[in-house]
Amino acid sequence: SSLWSHVPSAPPDSILGIANLYRKDPEKKKLNLSVGAYRDDNGNPCILRVVRKVEQEPAPDHEYIPMAGISLFCQAAAKLILGENASSIAEKRVVTVQSLSGTGALRVGAEFLYRFYHPNPANTEKPRVYIPRPSWGNHRKVFESAGLKVSEYTYFDPVTCDVDAKGLLEDLKNNVPSYSVIVLHACAHNPTGADPSEELWKEILQVVLQKQLLVFFDSAYQGFASGDLEKDAFAVRLFEQSGIEMLVAQSFAKNMGLYGERVGALSFICKDTCPVDAVQSQLETIIRSMYSSPPANGARIACRILNDPQLFQEWKQELVEMSARIQNMRKLLYEALVSRKTPGDWSHITKQIGMFSFTGLNAKQVRYLREKHHIYMTEDGRASMAGLSRETVPMFADAIHDAVT
Ligand code: PMP
Repeated sequence: SSLWSHVPSAPPDSILGIANLYRKDPEKKKLNLSVGAYRDDNGNPCILRVVRKVEQEPAPDHEYIPMAGISLFCQAAAKLILGENASSIAEKRVVTVQSLSGTGALRVGAEFLYRFYHPNPANTEKPRVYIPRPSWGNHRKVFESAGLKVSEYTYFDPVTCDVDAKGLLEDLKNNVPSYSVIVLHACAHNPTGADPSEELWKEILQVVLQKQLLVFFDSAYQGFASGDLEKDAFAVRLFEQSGIEMLVAQSFAKNMGLYGERVGALSFICKDTCPVDAVQSQLETIIRSMYSSPPANGARIACRILNDPQLFQEWKQELVEMSARIQNMRKLLYEALVSRKTPGDWSHITKQIGMFSFTGLNAKQVRYLREKHHIYMTEDGRASMAGLSRETVPMFADAIHDAVT
């Protein structure tokens, strides 16, 4: 028998597993709202016009790029999230390396934390990583793969379908040990679509300072959530301005539509310039042993767009278009449910931000939608608004109505 006959099958991924079921469904009028990928109003994948334009430029060669990636891309990515005039950048306290999209940034950051984050000499146990409850399904796995222990902090109130501000602050104050790592979604929280208010971000920052927590921001939707790159960077910049040390993972999957190209960045914002060279060299060491160097093509495209004022303007326009289409789908879905007199309060659908709506449907109702209506969403009730179109909103509303009545 095979050397591997004892290997048990791994449980399917909570998101990609559903996408697989969708692929296997022979029904023609099926609808995939499980994966977070933008679709145009005809339900088709969409290449940004500005990306198409840059793609016409021939690649200079197919040589390896450095372990840390394209440095002009890294600098531009840091500027994009921290702000043109960030003092950490001016003071050369930022280390940025290119990453395999947002997931790769989190994974390399996690590996670095595992190796080097021993903040409490009195305690030999490694600090835990705290992620919101609920969070993106992959967060726990990414940090656990690096050998870190993961716990959750209170985030969402299912009754109000909004951030549980009081619960969140109390949890951070009372239950999360000092020096813990805390993962914060920079904007467009996945899966809930509920973000802290600016006021709440300020309160979170105060607790982070008091408790000396290490913040790891995950920014997967800058510009894609509100259509405004500055607005979606509010929380990260607020924290940066306080002068604390933190990590930031960036993804260009959604905002540039470069999903499969794996374009991302990982930044360390340090207190002073002293550790910068050492941190950079250790990140390169980690990258070298994991995958040697990142892919060139997508980062070259992003680098052009970020560094050319004309292309940058064109990109901003497309961010407005994509986010507006998603907001419009929210509005149409909400109106469709109201006009059907579907029982329940659906106002959270238009209040939530980003790609997803946390519909409030339970696992049984989600399964019913899948089996009876061929509509696929994750079991937590999360549906991608970007996967809807004017044509499919009525079908989705009919199915929800059927499931809850
Ligand atoms: N973090 C969050 C919160 C996300 O929603 C995503 C995308 N689904 C990612 C990270 C990373 O995605 P990618 O690796 O494709 O950039």
